[in-house]
Amino acid sequence: MEKYVYSFKEADYRNKKLFGGKGASLIQMTQLGLRVPPGFIITTEACKKFYEPRRREISELEGILLKNPPPEVRDEVIKKLHAIIDSLDLPGEIWSQVVSYMRELEKETGKRFGDPENPLLVSVRSGAAVSMPGMMDTVLNLGLNDETVKGLAKQTGNEWFAYDAYRRFLQMFGKIVLSIDEKLFSTAWEEIKRKYGVKDDPDVQLEGLKEAVERFKEIIVRARGGFPQDPWEQLKLAIKAVFRSWMSPRAIFYRIIEKITPDIADCTAVNVVTMVFGNAGWDSGTGVVFSRDVATGENKLYGEFLPVAQGEDVVAGIRTPMDIEEFRKRFPHLYEELYQGVKLLEKVNKDVQDVEFTVERGKLYFLQTRNAKMTALARVKTAVDMAKEGIITKEEALLMVSPDHVLQLLYPRIDPKAKATLVAQGLPASPGAVSGQVVFHPDDAVRWAAQGKRVILARVETKPDDVHGFYAAVGVLTSRGGMTSHAAVVARAIGKPAVVGAESIEIHEEEKYLKVGTHVIREGDWITIDGHTGNVYIGVVPTIEAELIPELEELLRWADEIRRLGVRANADLPEDAAIARKFGAQGIGLLRIERMFRKPERLELLRRIILAESPEERRPHLEALYKMLKNDFKEVFKIMDGLPVVVRLIDPPLHEFLPKPEEILEQIYQRKMRGDDASELEKLYRRVKALQEANPMLGHRGVRVGVTHPDFYYYLNKAILEAAAELKKEGFNPVVEIMIPQVSDVREIIYVKEKAIIPALKDVEASTGVKLDVKIGTMIETVRACLTIDEIAKHVDFISFGTNDLTQAVFSFSRDDAENKFIPQYLDLKILDADPFETIDIKGVGKLVEYAAKTAKEVNPSIEVGVCGEHGGDPKSIYFFHNKVDYVSASPFRVPLARLSAAQAAIINRQNPHY
Ligand code: PEP
Ligand code: MG
Repeated sequence: MEKYVYSFKEADYRNKKLFGGKGASLIQMTQLGLRVPPGFIITTEACKKFYEPRRREISELEGILLKNPPPEVRDEVIKKLHAIIDSLDLPGEIWSQVVSYMRELEKETGKRFGDPENPLLVSVRSGAAVSMPGMMDTVLNLGLNDETVKGLAKQTGNEWFAYDAYRRFLQMFGKIVLSIDEKLFSTAWEEIKRKYGVKDDPDVQLEGLKEAVERFKEIIVRARGGFPQDPWEQLKLAIKAVFRSWMSPRAIFYRIIEKITPDIADCTAVNVVTMVFGNAGWDSGTGVVFSRDVATGENKLYGEFLPVAQGEDVVAGIRTPMDIEEFRKRFPHLYEELYQGVKLLEKVNKDVQDVEFTVERGKLYFLQTRNAKMTALARVKTAVDMAKEGIITKEEALLMVSPDHVLQLLYPRIDPKAKATLVAQGLPASPGAVSGQVVFHPDDAVRWAAQGKRVILARVETKPDDVHGFYAAVGVLTSRGGMTSHAAVVARAIGKPAVVGAESIEIHEEEKYLKVGTHVIREGDWITIDGHTGNVYIGVVPTIEAELIPELEELLRWADEIRRLGVRANADLPEDAAIARKFGAQGIGLLRIERMFRKPERLELLRRIILAESPEERRPHLEALYKMLKNDFKEVFKIMDGLPVVVRLIDPPLHEFLPKPEEILEQIYQRKMRGDDASELEKLYRRVKALQEANPMLGHRGVRVGVTHPDFYYYLNKAILEAAAELKKEGFNPVVEIMIPQVSDVREIIYVKEKAIIPALKDVEASTGVKLDVKIGTMIETVRACLTIDEIAKHVDFISFGTNDLTQAVFSFSRDDAENKFIPQYLDLKILDADPFETIDIKGVGKLVEYAAKTAKEVNPSIEVGVCGEHGGDPKSIYFFHNKVDYVSASPFRVPLARLSAAQAAIINRQNPHY
């Protein structure tokens, strides 16, 4: 018979897939000798077995939910799902193993399940292979009934506590196992508190608790016809309920968003754990503690403790917990024990730990540990610190930080000079400053976001059912809850800025407005939140770009030691170049010359150049233009002094710089209406019409302009080279590389070199007396260039893959249109795995890149090979380019991410050379 149940003492903690994360941690902590209440695990295989009879139908329904259908369809599907799951029974072989492990537990604890004198009580907890915080269900205090509650009271000498445990159990069992609306219980509880005139739960006297027990039972009887007094029946139902929670809509939704596929986690395990009671008195309580500060990364315990409370109370934010520092003062011995345990777990698990614990009458119990979720700031700092402390290696630190963390750290902050109306302050739960229009319901967040609006979701507090709203919103604001509240944890996990517990704000969710001081903010009004500081502002507040924090700089220095792939930046203007250099770019891999024409007077000159009908007519304009450009080049070369700058000669279709024919027609019409002469405009119109092309992206652009207008290319080169020569004279060291775009035949290169680049070089050298050493290369962005690379490579010093155009060419997808038109559906239908303009298409485009790079090096061993399409800043693509090219070039803000990704590629490649 297959084994479905294991005790904490006998199992292997490394098998998270079988035991789930929580189960594995209970096993590990037990085996490390930490105090863990005894218990056992029903494996994920058991859960699969439970679903097996109707798995096919369930998967089909799950497939519909995956497509995010409209609410009516979604609700219908969920109903069907529940009906199917409710019809399932716990297979006999699993149940018989559960029973025998319960008997073991009885022996170990000296208590008996259902015994009216000395009852064993257990918790039944979910736990999948990967942590899905708050997404699945847990039942505590199971085994209580009208008889055992008396036994518990006698055994502990504390009747209050026994009835407190019982009322909690009834509420949880009613809600989770019997699916009764939770509001019925919470309303009854509030009424009782009001009746007895108390505010906090622990102040409710025994009489009130007993009344709650009776009322809760009535609720259950009314809703479900009866309450199972038999603990074995309770246990069976609770196990089923936990299995069922794997298929709860919020769990399904979470798996979709977090891309948790069955190979990562398939079904949940169930942990049956002997109860320890945090509500046993003022020397008891429950808490959550992190081995380091998950907001800042500081190396100190960080967390909260709530006396006289059980598990869910802390996360739910019902009462305000005490800070862990306060806990230290009140219970120094317990703190010390906790500290040692948590640090041990951090060391063996080589990561910051998030530990749940309970204190029962002065005795500490560990209930769960897992790797902590934290802010990007804390992730970077803790990885660097742990490497320095010798807990992990530098390589491990580099693998621990994701490229996404790096991007998040470059999030904007509020401009300190901005005039802003600060109206409230909450806790800085997840960093980043954002402005958005306020909405008060997660469904509204989804709806508004679908209309392209930026929304901030404001709630009193959030629940797992609200998660879809988090994804839709640009930020989250709550008026209640701490740094470990649901809103804070989820926002950090998904990298959304959040301010939580801004208590001075009154949020009226139903009426859709919030009030703070004298301000009333209604749905749709703009606010700004700053997740660094916890500040909340009215209106849109300007933000500024972030700086690299010292720990990230250090981590990236380690990355630089390890990586073999160079990282340059795509930068066109001096300000971009400055950012690129600050972020550690080793040069500019692509300077798009056309972006220098952004100023109106230059655009006007360029238009004249394009419209001129002969070289003679063009020359004066070219002369004027080259002088203007030269100064920009000088600025960029100066900023990048000593580092290579690849300047690409003009590339886009020329009509992009001209007015649209319709606009000219309109002007002609206006002039004629006024009786003015329109002949100039008519000439312009004819010329613009003549330049129009059916497929401009495949038209008169790139080197083709250089071939038809070598004088234009000559002057561009003159501007570049003269800038370099003048700087050299001033003592600078410009390293210039000139790049020819859109080449499809080597003879294009030979032609423009001979007609434009070399003459410009010679002229500049002669006029300045400076000898220049420039590299001349080409972009590889047409299919033919890839296929004829053996010829091309002999005539250039470097090549750089323009993977944007190359992707367009290989797929025959218009890069300007595909992403708005059909790529989303292609991704939905799984025809494509990823947007090929974002992540390199390894099978097609990648194959060409690989062939061309390899052949180029064979033909010309000293050739330098780069990538300057958008893929140069995409981590997955960088993993692919590693070992194939010499460098990637990414937009300035992606340079730090590219440095990290390149190091990760080197480490992974070293660990697994076939990767
Ligand atoms: C490319 O095609 O990949 C490229 C970098 O050039 P552009 O995007 O300017 O066409
Ligand atoms: Mg291109």
